[in-house]
Amino acid sequence: MTTTVHNLIDGQWVGDPQAERRNPARPEELVSVAPSSGTDAVDAALVAAGQAQRAWAATPAPTRGAILLDAADLLRSRQADVARDLVREEGKTLAEGMGEVRRAIDVLRYFGSQGWRHGGDVLPSAVPGTTVFTRAEPIGVAALITPWNFPIAIPAWKMAPALISGNAVVLKPAELTPVSASHLATALTDAGLPGGVLNVVHGKGSVVGDALARDPRVGALSFTGSTAVGLGLHELLHARRARVQLEMGGKNAYLVLDDADPVAAARVVAAGAFGLTGQACTATSRVYCTPGIHEAFVAAVAKEAEGFVPGDGLDPATTMGPVVSVAQLATDVAAVERARQQGATVVAGGAEPEGQLFAPTVLTGVAHDADVVRKEVFGPVVAVIEVADYDEGLARVNDSDYGLTAGICTGSLAAAHHFAEHAAVGVVKVNRPTSGLDLNVPFGGVKDSSSNTFREQGPTATEFYTWSKTVYLGFE
Ligand code: ADP
Repeated sequence: MTTTVHNLIDGQWVGDPQAERRNPARPEELVSVAPSSGTDAVDAALVAAGQAQRAWAATPAPTRGAILLDAADLLRSRQADVARDLVREEGKTLAEGMGEVRRAIDVLRYFGSQGWRHGGDVLPSAVPGTTVFTRAEPIGVAALITPWNFPIAIPAWKMAPALISGNAVVLKPAELTPVSASHLATALTDAGLPGGVLNVVHGKGSVVGDALARDPRVGALSFTGSTAVGLGLHELLHARRARVQLEMGGKNAYLVLDDADPVAAARVVAAGAFGLTGQACTATSRVYCTPGIHEAFVAAVAKEAEGFVPGDGLDPATTMGPVVSVAQLATDVAAVERARQQGATVVAGGAEPEGQLFAPTVLTGVAHDADVVRKEVFGPVVAVIEVADYDEGLARVNDSDYGLTAGICTGSLAAAHHFAEHAAVGVVKVNRPTSGLDLNVPFGGVKDSSSNTFREQGPTATEFYTWSKTVYLGFE
């Protein structure tokens, strides 16, 4: 079945669908046709958002929250259908797709319930007969630009804090995954979100995304995607002193110490490296092992890699979905080829892809400055490198342009604590995969992984979408 996707502007589903998306597991299957919008659609969305925002901000926060909670219930009742559509357009396994839709539901519930707490603080004043309080004021119109790899969860975790804070939103979903974003928007409109509060404009990043980034009506822009695009957006938003939040690439490392169990460590690393077909900004892509465990770990992680069953995500036997696109597949293949040229040995995977199925790949014998250690691949490829000791391992982990997540496998509390303190990343995992995040804690990175300003998710997510006004109330 082919889904016809429209833009959502001022509460109306509009726009001529032109851009085709095929199932990455079955290229003969046309999954969707979506608008390839021009700047006129961006303008219409911003007009609608600007008009709707005041009334939305004046709506009591618990009432705003109730709409998010109702949308969560609707999405829950549609979870299996939405997950199947997500799998067909993005390529995850059905279990991963169900988990992602569940995440979007939980995010809506989390921020929906924040409606009862949203506002500010009451603080003592040094002036007698005076109360001081703060008000969390909405920014106004927030633009959200999102990637294909979490096509419903990322729009949800940006949109929910923006909406609960009283902002209107214009979402520009990734071109490859328009259907998932549409399901989220439909749940919200079905739950009673007023027209214009949420607008969705499909199209190219260089057209729709660029127009949003340049438009002074956008007071805040939250972006998840590549570092190259993100840094360009940062320039534009910074120049006009608008809020900007960027979550970009990663080159996430794991350090495996001698005292770890090699099989348990291999499971943790494989889950982070190969889960979601390695297509997560938090995926593990470099592993450093101390000498006593290196050999056993390489054997164990190669076995884990060979245990995956690549296939169509809707097939229950599949444990790894296809690569999202032909272009991404070419990147994965080229990265392994380049690593080979630079001296790597392929100990698992590395075979010719079948269609868009790419076997999880483990490389050894890689130099510290090899491209596969330095550059993000965004596929199921991991390099394992021996280091002399913990100190060298930590130094290698931190020797990267990126700083999103990093992990350590050890039973030593001292090593775990030292690593947690000194790893130059936004998220540290001890004996847990680098990917996989809770929704109630801050998420973000440092260095080229993030704008490193406002964290996403958790209780502070709304800070990005609000500004603080201080009120002195004299009553005597
Ligand atoms: P990926 O390689 O993961 O697709 P991109 O950074 O290219 O990462 O895309 C992430 C999001 O940014 C997508 O929605 C894409 O359409 C959008 N995008 C791409 N180029 C631009 C741009 N020049 N300006 C604004 N948004 C863009």
